[in-house]
Amino acid sequence: MSLSIGLVGLGAIARAQHLPAIARTAGVHLAAIASRNATVPDLPCYPDVCTMLAAQPGIAAVSLCTPPQGRFEQAMAVLRAGRHLMLEKPPGMTLSEIEALRETAEGAGLTIFASWHSREAAAVETAGEWLSPRQIASARIDWREDVRKWHPGQDWIWAPGGLGVFDPGINALSILTRILRPPLHPPVRLTAAQLSVPRGRQTPIAADLSMRAGETAITAYFDWRETGEELWRITFDTDRGQAVLDKGGAAFHVAGRLIASGGNREYANLYARMHDLVREGQSDLDLAPMRLVADAFVNARFAITDPFDA
Ligand code: NAP
Repeated sequence: MSLSIGLVGLGAIARAQHLPAIARTAGVHLAAIASRNATVPDLPCYPDVCTMLAAQPGIAAVSLCTPPQGRFEQAMAVLRAGRHLMLEKPPGMTLSEIEALRETAEGAGLTIFASWHSREAAAVETAGEWLSPRQIASARIDWREDVRKWHPGQDWIWAPGGLGVFDPGINALSILTRILRPPLHPPVRLTAAQLSVPRGRQTPIAADLSMRAGETAITAYFDWRETGEELWRITFDTDRGQAVLDKGGAAFHVAGRLIASGGNREYANLYARMHDLVREGQSDLDLAPMRLVADAFVNARFAITDPFDA
C-alpha cells in the first residue's frame, strides 16, 4: 500500500526537492501539507502539524522540512499521534532532543528516519566501496559556497541551533562518516576546530576542522564567503593514489580518471528508503555527522569576523 505522507514547512528545500521527489517515487504519495503561509493547489493544507494530524487520520508518515529550531515539538506531536517520522538534516537542534525522539519512536513501535541527502549523491557508494580496502593517509574536505545565493532571507541559519556554515558543512560530514564508518574504518573524531563568527551573529560563516579516524588525518574547510567557483569536494590520499569525491558526491575520480558519476536522485532515494523502513518496521537515525558538529562547537576557538549583511 502506498505510504500516505504529510509534509510540514513549505520552504526552499520542500519546494525544490521534496515535492518533486514524492511525486516521482513509487510507493509514497503526498496527502496534505502544514504551512504557516503557503498552500499547494488541490491538496489539503493546514496551518500547523497538529491541525493536520487531527484532520487527516489516514496520514501514516510526516516529513518535517522546517528549520532545526522548533522541530522537536513538531516531531513529538507526530510520534504521539502514532505516525512515522522523517526528518530533514540536521535531525534536530540538539543531540539530546534527537535521543528523546529515538526513545519515543522506539517505545511506540514507529519508524524514525534522520535523512542525510548527500549520502544519496550518485558517486558516494562507489567511492565508499573503492576506499574501504585502502590505506588512507589523509583526507581533506573543501566545502565553499556563497551563503547569499543559497540562503537568501533565512534568518534561522544565523540564530542558535541554525548551525551557520555547518548547515552545508554537515552534508560533507555525512558523506565522510558514511565512507569512514565502523567497522570498515575507525570512527571519525574531532581534534580541533576554529570557527569564524560574524560580529553580531550567533553561528559561524567559516569553519576549519581537524579530525582523525585511526591513522587517517582529516581536515575540513567550510566557507560561506565564496563568490567565485563553488567547491564541494573531498580528497583522499591513499596507497593507490589520490581519490576525489567531487560535486557534493556526484562524481568520483581516481588519479584523474572518472570512476562514477550520475544525476541527482538524492531525495527520491530518501523517500524510497522511508517507504522501505516503514514496511520493514525499522528506523535509521545515525547521529555521527551531528556529533562532529556538536564537538566542534564545544571545542572551538572562536574568531569574530566582519559583520554579515544579508
Ligand atoms: P527555509 O527556506 O527557511 O524553509 C523552512 C520552512 O519552514 C519555512 O518556509 C516555513 O514554512 C517553515 N517554518 C516553520 N517554522 C519556521 C521558523 N520558525 N522559521 C522559519 N521557517 C519556519 O529553509 P530550507 O532551506 O527549506 O531548510 C529547511 C531544512 O531543510 C533545514 O534543516 C535545512 O538544513 C534543510 N535543507 C535545506 C537545503 C537547501 O538547500 N535549502 C538542502 C537540504 C536540506 P511555512 O511558511 O510553510 O510554515
